[in-house]
Amino acid sequence: MIKALTFDLDDTLWEVWPVVEHAEQLLYEWLAGHYPRIATRFTSLELRELCDEVAVNQPGIAHDRTRLRKEALQLAAGRAGYAEFDVDAAFAVFFAARNAVKLFAEVRPTLERLARRYPLASLSNGNADVRLIGLDDVFAFSLSAIDVGAAKPEALMFEEACRRLQALPEQIVHVGDDPIHDVQGGLAAGFRTVWLNRAGRDWPGGARADAEISNLAELEAVLAVWEQPR
Ligand SMILES: [Mg+2]
Repeated sequence: MIKALTFDLDDTLWEVWPVVEHAEQLLYEWLAGHYPRIATRFTSLELRELCDEVAVNQPGIAHDRTRLRKEALQLAAGRAGYAEFDVDAAFAVFFAARNAVKLFAEVRPTLERLARRYPLASLSNGNADVRLIGLDDVFAFSLSAIDVGAAKPEALMFEEACRRLQALPEQIVHVGDDPIHDVQGGLAAGFRTVWLNRAGRDWPGGARADAEISNLAELEAVLAVWEQPR
């Protein structure tokens, strides 16, 4: 029996990289206007790489995309010689653009139909805000790595989802694009998993998902089979 569905966000419900790149570009333009020495000293790509540097140096916050971005900006400001830097204003520029995502066409109608039959929740390693994106009406709740303190494939987010959904792991279906974070993570937590493989990639290896789909609308047929009495 299936009691609930959980969904990854980035690259499952929308394509994430074009949005992040655009957000980084807007942030860079804002920095060039407000703190020009940062833009003189760093390229936009180097600012992104600073996030990776922070993650390596501070593994305790590596799961928190918001803190990584803020710490990287603060670091860049310091290296560019700014003793005072409004990191919240800078991050707000990035964050607004990062949430201006374009849902894949079938996503909203599919989620709306599914939400009439099951509680839905989102489980994300990123810092997308489903309220800003306008999907908070279909999700009963949303969990992120920032909320729970650990990223998928670790079990914590899946365990918290079980607790909030008041369901056993095997009663929940998790849907996501990432073979490690979503499929391996979900399987290890005892969830049924569906690999959303939009690009038609080969399975990279390891335990396979319980089902594979190429767009979200195909999920309904998978659930119908699983719901059949046997
Ligand atoms: Mg994803």
